[in-house]
Amino acid sequence: MASLGYDSFGGTTWRDVANETTKLQTEKGTYVPEYLDPAVHCPEDMKTWPSRDSILEMCVACGERHGLDEKTRFNTSLEKLEVKGDTLNGGHYELHLTTEDASETLKVSALISCPGTFYNPIDIKWPGRDEFGGYVCHGSYDSINYDKLKDASVCIVGHGGFTIENVRTCVERKSKKVYVVCRHRHLAGPKMVSWMVSGAAVPLPGPYVVEAFQMMYSLLGVDVWAHPVVNANADRSSAILTQTTTFGVTDIYFLACYYKVCEIVNGEIEKLSKGKVVLTDGKELECNVIMKCLGSTGATDFDEIIGFQFYQGWWVNGDPLLPVVAPAKGVQAKNFAGFSLAPGYAGMIVTNRYILDDPARFLGVRDWLPKTTKDDHYECNYIYKGSHVLATMVILQGQFPELTAELAEADKLKAEKHMKAHPLEKHLSECLAEWKMYIKMMKAARKDKVQKC
Ligand SMILES: Cc1cc2nc3c(=O)[nH]c(=O)nc-3n(C[C@H](O)[C@H](O)[C@H](O)COP(=O)(O)OP(=O)(O)OC[C@H]3O[C@@H](n4cnc5c(N)ncnc54)[C@H](O)[C@@H]3O)c2cc1C
Repeated sequence: MASLGYDSFGGTTWRDVANETTKLQTEKGTYVPEYLDPAVHCPEDMKTWPSRDSILEMCVACGERHGLDEKTRFNTSLEKLEVKGDTLNGGHYELHLTTEDASETLKVSALISCPGTFYNPIDIKWPGRDEFGGYVCHGSYDSINYDKLKDASVCIVGHGGFTIENVRTCVERKSKKVYVVCRHRHLAGPKMVSWMVSGAAVPLPGPYVVEAFQMMYSLLGVDVWAHPVVNANADRSSAILTQTTTFGVTDIYFLACYYKVCEIVNGEIEKLSKGKVVLTDGKELECNVIMKCLGSTGATDFDEIIGFQFYQGWWVNGDPLLPVVAPAKGVQAKNFAGFSLAPGYAGMIVTNRYILDDPARFLGVRDWLPKTTKDDHYECNYIYKGSHVLATMVILQGQFPELTAELAEADKLKAEKHMKAHPLEKHLSECLAEWKMYIKMMKAARKDKVQKC
């Protein structure tokens, strides 16, 4: 059965997956529910990187402002979609809905699905758990006992967005040491690079982004050009960046690595032993906390609920009345318009409205759109990659000049909203203040450690 959901706005992301300590990693300027309204900007009293609770407050307030709370059926699950007749010619869809104690059928002429992609934390259980003797938790879904972090040696497993967040949390909670054990050291985005990319009126070419990353990565002796994520031509005038997670945005991660509070260890855990993790290459790391940050699985029942057979673009079974809007997986791009999901969502919303207004126009381009067919071995076929969305957009924009013009207007909002909320001097001084604060924190921790010895 599909999840019954929540009793208010914020989605699985902010109501379930985020921790008490989670903050928005990208800047607040473009992360606004009313993004497409040029007159509405993010709340001024909100912090640049707002907390989970502050984002929830914003979502609820926005819903109420527009009377959406009265129209929304919270705690209601879509169990099945049925197609009745030719939906472009008098047919309809039947939605089978359930709440905790009732069920009903709703007749609709289109369905825009926004099922999200974060449902359950991916788990690994290693042999030797009993012998280990320490604390093992997920680094997400608000399941961390923060008291366990003080003075602890923490092994974070995985290198995605939650790893970036939990390196900060461990530093703030005064952990003694943080090891990040990962198969791939994904690239993270320094805060000023995220600011620069979001503030640019046009997408910035890959080489700019690599050079900007390099300034921070040089502190750690990492050559970004040589990183497996980067595929550049010989004269470095073009670079495609491909990784399976989006860029976590952070500065403190870099500082923690620089001060050797955090150490990145390439490898995989084979087993646990008393107070240690043992890697497959035989290396042992002493730790008393293991935090799993291995990503999430999507809604495993959604393919079946929606009757997924294939995607054309982001339309289920090539049906112009059945678009899906969900966070795309990973990064694959040679130009960058921002690290925030919001502008991408906005483009998809504009496009969905354009197609829904006159679905017949979709039919002429449908077969040119990138297609993915259901793979029965894969449990969440509805989750697409960023490159799939990008290729869809390129084709649609090539065919529909009015849509292209509308999207250009929406794109302009990104830089405008961002720069209004985060003027350079203000943003830089905020990043600097945070940078200095964390340096102080790390130096104090080091002094403390020497004294304890
Ligand atoms: C911890 C965390 C931090 C993040 N930080 C950032 C950031 O800094 N910047 C950024 O741009 N993005 C960030 N993201 C990405 C974030 O997920 C998106 O920005 C956005 O919140 C996704 O919203 P959504 O509504 O698409 O999905 P979700 O929040 O996942 O919501 C999906 C909803 O669909 C409902 N649903 C699914 N199936 C059914 C069904 N069958 N019937 C009824 N309801 C159903 C679920 O109950 C849920 O309420 C972050 C994500 C996480 C997890």
